[in-house]
Amino acid sequence: MSLLDYNNGVMHGVWMEAEQDVADSRTAVNRMLARSPTAARASSGDGTHTGPTATDRHATRGLRLYVRYAPWVLLHLPNVLHVRDVTYESHGVPLKEYQLTRADHRRQEGSEDIRRHVDGLAEQWRAEEAADPVLRAGRQAAVEQALKILFEARTPDHDLMRWRVRLYCGHITETQRHAETARPTMHGSSSMKCPECSKDPSTIVAYEPIGFADQRPVPPPALKRPTRAQLERRLAELEAEVGDLRSKDSSQENR
Ligand SMILES: [Zn+2]
Repeated sequence: MSLLDYNNGVMHGVWMEAEQDVADSRTAVNRMLARSPTAARASSGDGTHTGPTATDRHATRGLRLYVRYAPWVLLHLPNVLHVRDVTYESHGVPLKEYQLTRADHRRQEGSEDIRRHVDGLAEQWRAEEAADPVLRAGRQAAVEQALKILFEARTPDHDLMRWRVRLYCGHITETQRHAETARPTMHGSSSMKCPECSKDPSTIVAYEPIGFADQRPVPPPALKRPTRAQLERRLAELEAEVGDLRSKDSSQENR
């Protein structure tokens, strides 16, 4: 199950079943976004999120699950509140003059080693596939499936942070990462192909966040743990929302 679209002090989410297929999950997620006080506005430009309709079976089920598990959410609120508290970090100033450090050279060598290894594997795969058309067809299908999932799960602009980066080759460019990523070098993405000189890989040696892909500015550093008074106020709001959902849910059940 997944939960939570927490943003700007507004917590919102639905529970959904992990076993459902991609299309069902997308429906549930879109439904959640449509109900979200923040995301709905951000994604309403394409006109597809027009709010929940009672006819959507999945939405109704998601809503019921939300209502059923809401007490758990309230119980774990202090932890949950920290899920989206991202403080975006900087390293150096990309636009200022920069001397490559020994660590930069070491990281660049590491990236190039990995690239050589992957290139070697790819060569091996190509040779295997040339000798085995069935294997080739199977791998092709797997790749297409993976691309399809990637395409369907395209991250919306409001969940993307733009970064200005200085690369090992000396060029300065822009890249994007999921908004939950505090540094553009996390999760094995410490290098990229330079769009200027095509050096590939070229290690990211300096970076700074420049704003969300939907034009919102970089948020200030995440707040420290919320105070007890803030939590209690938020709890009261959520309890009111849950009460509201419960009455809507039972009125839908009666239809
Ligand atoms: Zn370059």
